Amino acid sequence: MGEGGRADIPANLARVRERIARAAERSGRRREEICLVAVSKVVEAARVREAIAAGVTDLGENYIQEAAAKRALIPEPVRWHLIGRLQRNKASRAATLFDIVHTIDDPRTAEALGRHARAAGRMVEVLLQVNTSGEEQKAGVAPAEVDRLLDAVLGITGLQVRGLMTIGRFEPNPEQARPEFRLLAHLAKEVERRSGVELKWLSMGMTHDFEVAIEEGSNLVRVGTGIFGPRPA
Ligand SMILES: *Cc1c(COP(=O)(O)O)cnc(C)c1O
Repeated sequence: MGEGGRADIPANLARVRERIARAAERSGRRREEICLVAVSKVVEAARVREAIAAGVTDLGENYIQEAAAKRALIPEPVRWHLIGRLQRNKASRAATLFDIVHTIDDPRTAEALGRHARAAGRMVEVLLQVNTSGEEQKAGVAPAEVDRLLDAVLGITGLQVRGLMTIGRFEPNPEQARPEFRLLAHLAKEVERRSGVELKWLSMGMTHDFEVAIEEGSNLVRVGTGIFGPRPA
């Protein structure tokens, strides 16, 4: 925390980067292979720009409206990631706001996103969200349904499937999410082998569990609190 209880963004970022580097090393990879998405939901644009000045290149947002308002205040060329649920009636705005959508779990929403991407002359990268913990309240398809979802999304012009995403079980001990991260990494390999489609990105790991996720093969981590400090409840 810095002055006025505000997070010291450059210092936090340096710490997160260091932790990423060490976890990458433990898994036999280089730090450059891990993409850090700074999750900026509910963070005001001025503070997001501080993070960009400190080297952030990728921003993650959960809500379409908030992202649209913020984008207008952030002229820097960053990559915008949608990490929150996509509703079909927001597909049009999402198709112009985001470079990559992590939360595809149903063909009809994907179809709508693709249609709007084509209309806007854009190509939107997508990740298929998998519910690896089996928790009922969680979005994402079951692991056994990934092949079918992939087949459906591959046929949609305007979208490019680039990987898989999951949200770890939220437990005080991040080790408890390790089996889910391991499952996603394994699934990606299997699906790649069966489909011949390259799944470059494994989006898994948040502030409290990104090190475990990287050890299990994550190369795209979504970190909010660790960079910007705690969000208001
Ligand atoms: C909010 C959010 C994050 C970031 O969470 P932190 O714990 O603040 O790092 C990551 N992924 C998703 C899907 C989120 O909704």
